[in-house]
Amino acid sequence: MGKIVALANQKGGVGKTTTCVNLAAALAAERQTVLLIDLDPQGNATVGCGVNPYQLEATVNDVLLERKLITDVVQSVSSGFDVVPSNSELTESEVGLLSLPLREHRLLKALSQQRGRYDYILIDCPPALNMLTVNALVAADSVLIPMQCEYYALEGLTALLSTVEKISKTANRRLHVEGILRTMFDARTSLANQVSEQLLEHFKDKVYITSIPRNVRLAEAPSHGLPGVVYDKTATGSLAYISLAKELVEKRTQELAKREAIVS
Ligand code: ATP
Ligand code: MG
Repeated sequence: MGKIVALANQKGGVGKTTTCVNLAAALAAERQTVLLIDLDPQGNATVGCGVNPYQLEATVNDVLLERKLITDVVQSVSSGFDVVPSNSELTESEVGLLSLPLREHRLLKALSQQRGRYDYILIDCPPALNMLTVNALVAADSVLIPMQCEYYALEGLTALLSTVEKISKTANRRLHVEGILRTMFDARTSLANQVSEQLLEHFKDKVYITSIPRNVRLAEAPSHGLPGVVYDKTATGSLAYISLAKELVEKRTQELAKREAIVS
């Protein structure tokens, strides 16, 4: 059974989309089957995967509003994974879902048939704790939190963690924090090191061993419609995402082994 991971942080520009796209490609390179769901009306993940957001017959918006099935909108991309694309039409769901029944459960319902088909389903969330992000958190098994080691980073984290806790006590008991990822990390600055130390102190092994360095190749890659790990797999940023994918797969293998031991 596949694992559904939401990449969320209501703070903008922290590396959610860069992580989602590169992790999808790096997991695919580790022979994992991956579905990426772009749940942001900005459509950045869609572009980063090489899909043109202006030429879409249907998007994740149609899935949430139950006009289409996921199988009608999914596309395979050359980097070796599948994508459910998005564009600005998704703002229709952001507002429209509010007046619909079971509004928080739309994505969960849509994904019920997909779980068995993929090892990982990654959801790229928008920079807000809105109905789209709530749909992602209700559908997900876990949340991966990309964050920059900056002064206000920890304050934003509190709001996200309290939302995760609320949802895990009500709509989705499976939900837990998958891990916290230090992005655009510059080990030369003392502030980054201080915040990183605080993170490790508070969240211990929930912080990934891998951190992602600031690397211009990762920022260039979307304009070529490719994940950084495909555009230049030797770049420091790409190597970091490959190492993150290995960390996730290793952790998942341990989880599954533990579960099997409990069952037998
Ligand atoms: P939003 O909240 O708007 O959805 P986001 O959290 O998804 O943003 P990204 O779009 O992934 O963040 O990254 C923000 C900007 O930083 C982008 O221009 C991206 O190319 C750049 N960026 C992300 N990670 C790195 C990195 N490790 N090194 C250099 N640039 C990066
Ligand atoms: Mg984004």
